[in-house]
Amino acid sequence: EAGLYIVATPIGNLADLSPRAADILSRADVIAVEDSRVTAGLLRHIGVKRPMIPYHDHNAEGMRPGLIARMATESVALVSDAGTPLISDPGYKLVRDARAAGRHVVTIPGPCAAIAALTLAGLPTDRFLFVGFLPSKAQARAQAIAEIAPVRATLVLYESGPRLAACLAALSEGLGNRDAAVTREISKRFEEAVTGTLDQLAARYADAPPKGEIVIVVAPPIAPSPPDPLDADAALAEALTRLP
Ligand code: SAM
Repeated sequence: EAGLYIVATPIGNLADLSPRAADILSRADVIAVEDSRVTAGLLRHIGVKRPMIPYHDHNAEGMRPGLIARMATESVALVSDAGTPLISDPGYKLVRDARAAGRHVVTIPGPCAAIAALTLAGLPTDRFLFVGFLPSKAQARAQAIAEIAPVRATLVLYESGPRLAACLAALSEGLGNRDAAVTREISKRFEEAVTGTLDQLAARYADAPPKGEIVIVVAPPIAPSPPDPLDADAALAEALTRLP
C-alpha cells in the first residue's frame, strides 16, 4: 500500500531486524536512508535490493516535497543508520508533512538504544526523560543540564566515548552526584553496563575513554521526604512551652 513506513533497524545485532521490518523493506518502492552504505549492508544481509534515496539533516528540506509526492502512489520506507528513525535522527518533519498531505503513515517499531539502555541500567523506569545528545561545548552543556536538574525522572542521554568523562563530570556538577549507568555497545559483542555514582563513573573513564556507542542513564533526584506531622506537633508543643 502507498504511504510512509517508518522502519526501525538493528542497533548492533542484525538478527534484531524484525520479520515485519524485513518484509516492508523488501517490498518498498523506495527507501529513504541516512547513509546508503549502511543500509546497503542491511539489505544485503536480508538478500534484498531496493532503490535508495538519501534523506539526512543536510538535504531533508529539499528532498521532502518529492518524497511526500511519491507517497501518494508508492510505498516509501524511512530508515536511519541504526535504531528507530526520528529518535535523535531525522524524520519528524517528514512524518509531519506526510500527515498534513493526508498520506498513510505506518510505524514498524523495533530497536532503540535509549529504551534498550533503560532495560540494562537498573534505575527507575516509571518516568524518564530522553535528553538525546547534550551540546558539546562546556557552557551550553552546563546550561542544558541546569534546565533538566529539577526534573523528577530518570534521564537518558546519548554520548560519544571521547566526551564521556567530561559529560559525566558536568552531570555531577549540575545534578549532584547521583547514581547512574554507562551502557555501551548494546546488542554487540562487547555489550556492557557499568553502574556507579556520576563521580565514580567520571573517574573511571577519565583516562580511558571507552570505544563504541554509549548511552548514559542517570537516576532521578532523591525526593525530599514529606514533612512529618509528628515533628510539627512536637515543634508546636515545644514552642507553646516558651510562650509567656
Ligand atoms: N535512532 C537511534 C536509536 O533509536 O537509538 C539513535 C541514533 S543517534 C544518531 C546514535 C547514538 O545512539 C549513539 O551515539 C549512541 O549514543 C546511541 N547508540 C546507538 N546504537 C547504540 C548501541 N548499540 N549501544 C549503545 N548506544 C547506542
